[in-house]
Amino acid sequence: MKEYFGGCHCGKVKYKFSSNDSVEIWKCNCSICKMSDYEHLFIHHNDFQILEGDNLLNEYSFGAKKAKHLFCKNCGIKSFYQPRSHPDSYSINLRCVEEPPEVKNVVYFDGKNEY
Ligand SMILES: [Zn+2]
Repeated sequence: MKEYFGGCHCGKVKYKFSSNDSVEIWKCNCSICKMSDYEHLFIHHNDFQILEGDNLLNEYSFGAKKAKHLFCKNCGIKSFYQPRSHPDSYSINLRCVEEPPEVKNVVYFDGKNEY
């Protein structure tokens, strides 16, 4: 396991997490993921820590309202969120990670039809 750092565009939301250096990510075709081309890396809650900016996270839900989409109030970037598919993990946006782990596999998830 290695330690990684990520956050939003303006830098006010910052977090760190532990992960293998070779990971599987998910790409999802649901209405919200396709708009941002979000790259999901699932990290267990215990391996994730907010460092700064938790007071700046704005929560957005739609549909079944089980997922909690968390956007930085200042810059609007969703750098991680609570997904419905993995209730014990956060989904990190791999695009928001500095020096991200290597992607060994991409799973194409049919969120449009399963959610
Ligand atoms: Zn921001």
